[in-house]
Amino acid sequence: MLILRCRSVVKPGLRSRSLKRVVKRVPSSVSRVFYVRSSGYVARCSICGKPLGGVPRDLKVIRYGSKSHKRPERPFGGVLCSKCLAVAYRVAVRGL
Ligand SMILES: [Zn+2]
Repeated sequence: MLILRCRSVVKPGLRSRSLKRVVKRVPSSVSRVFYVRSSGYVARCSICGKPLGGVPRDLKVIRYGSKSHKRPERPFGGVLCSKCLAVAYRVAVRGL
């Protein structure tokens, strides 16, 4: 059962709805609400503009994560989406 810590008054800075509320269990086995600010960063395909999969949005991972955690390990990983890459391959092979 999820037990939320009932706090009627939070800090004014935490009332913003742009903060994500995450319920985590702390070491004292009590569930608490943590307020997490998302980076707002989304990696997008350079051709179609679709958000890319496999690219983290967490700035901590982007800054300090290993290279293989930052983008898919395939040609144009983190640059093109899979559909645009398939089209680009076809164009390159057929010499259109
Ligand atoms: Zn694309």
